[in-house]
Amino acid sequence: MSRVYNFSAGPSMLPLEVLETARDEMLDYKGSGQSVMEMSHRSKVYDEIIKTAEADFRKLAGVPDNYKFLFLQGGASTQFAMIPMNLMKNKVADYIVTGQWAKKAWQEAGKFGTANKIASSEDKTFTYIPDVSDLPISENADYVYICQNNTIYGTRYKELPNTKGKVLVSDVSSMFLSEPMDVTKYGIVYGGVQKNVGPAGVTIVVIREDLITEDVLPGTPTMLKYKTHADSDSLYNTPPAYNIYVCGLVFKWLMKLGGLTEMQKINEKKAKILYDYLDSSKLFRGTVEPEYRSLMNVPFVTDSDELNKKFVDEAQKAGFVNLKGHRTVGGMRASIYNAMPEEGVRKLVEFMDRFEGENS
Ligand SMILES: *Cc1c(COP(=O)(O)O)cnc(C)c1O
Repeated sequence: MSRVYNFSAGPSMLPLEVLETARDEMLDYKGSGQSVMEMSHRSKVYDEIIKTAEADFRKLAGVPDNYKFLFLQGGASTQFAMIPMNLMKNKVADYIVTGQWAKKAWQEAGKFGTANKIASSEDKTFTYIPDVSDLPISENADYVYICQNNTIYGTRYKELPNTKGKVLVSDVSSMFLSEPMDVTKYGIVYGGVQKNVGPAGVTIVVIREDLITEDVLPGTPTMLKYKTHADSDSLYNTPPAYNIYVCGLVFKWLMKLGGLTEMQKINEKKAKILYDYLDSSKLFRGTVEPEYRSLMNVPFVTDSDELNKKFVDEAQKAGFVNLKGHRTVGGMRASIYNAMPEEGVRKLVEFMDRFEGENS
């Protein structure tokens, strides 16, 4: 068996230990005589799996009792519609557009009401986060929306926006469980799990209870109401049962590691190794303003498209895969999520340093 270092932005690496446990339990989950893939989602044995996963997430992230925790489907992208459909009572919401995912969310919300773009960093191709300390928040805004870590551009908020009392909704897809979070600051905090938490097919939504109502936009489908899923503890219909089980294994892995404070230390150390190298390199450089650098997604370039391509090709051959930047940005991007070991980052930097020596 030979495993590569996968720097993909998502789906991405899972901890080896988690994959090994999933393998060991594949044919006979804890004496049940069946795989989790084959189980009824209404069985006692599965109920234990999903309840434990939720309880572990709550413990890890410190989710207060007045928040519901939901396992949903449809990816983070479905939330772009679900959020306005459920929250737009006044049909007004404010969006801070710091990248493509925030932009898509903003555009989608415009189908349901007035979606105001109250700040943006598009003028400099999303290489920074705008000042969010005193924005023109709409008086009747139902919520203020952000994407907290911008997967494609590699920026992150250092501080949350001053929403002037309005509900904050945050997409944390590419930083979920990478560091401690204060859930009380949000009305909704959500993300697709395929970046940092588990296999694609699950979206986790943490939502304050008072935001879950029957008072949704007319015509909202049953499956797109938070209330439907909250009332049935994420078991209204068949959930992605196996994927939720793997998420649960990842939560156990994080707890064993020492929780999110420990995870943050590891992530900061990994990111520093890569950024320090980029800052000292004469061939490669990072593309975003240093103070907004993401700990998870690290975009970088050389000054030559040809060298960029050569680097990606040679890296691939050496076992460092998916380093090509997003198709809209070009260059390179190393996504170094929770499951990327420090050794993977160190070896990447050694490889980059060698490439620099051979090509400058
Ligand atoms: C990947 C990503 C999405 C889209 O997720 P899907 O699950 O593919 O819909 C949305 N937001 C952010 C920040 C992402 O990184």
